[in-house]
Amino acid sequence: MFWQASLYLAHQAPWFWPLVGALLGGVLGSFFACAAHRLPRGLSLRQPPSHCPKCKTILQPPDLIPIFSYLFLKARCRHCQAPIPPQTLAIELATTATGAILAYVVVKALLG
Ligand SMILES: [Zn+2]
Repeated sequence: MFWQASLYLAHQAPWFWPLVGALLGGVLGSFFACAAHRLPRGLSLRQPPSHCPKCKTILQPPDLIPIFSYLFLKARCRHCQAPIPPQTLAIELATTATGAILAYVVVKALLG
């Protein structure tokens, strides 16, 4: 059932799975950017939740949307205007594109 629905979607809406791959890639990229900031500093990946390293404000959902939050906030913290490193955007863009391409390739391979 799920497999048939997936194939039906791949045929009827060829953009669907690459979009899903892009969204998952973006979320993964956001995590990677967080890890790239925290791990070298010996900080936990679990606690505290996503926050501004300067003003310590816990980020709310609108500030956590990969790529878009960076662009809408013009690379600055909403609360203290501290700059957000451009590596964050680069990582999120790279993983979003990788997710979309990977999903496209996998669907193409499965459909022949
Ligand atoms: Zn801040």
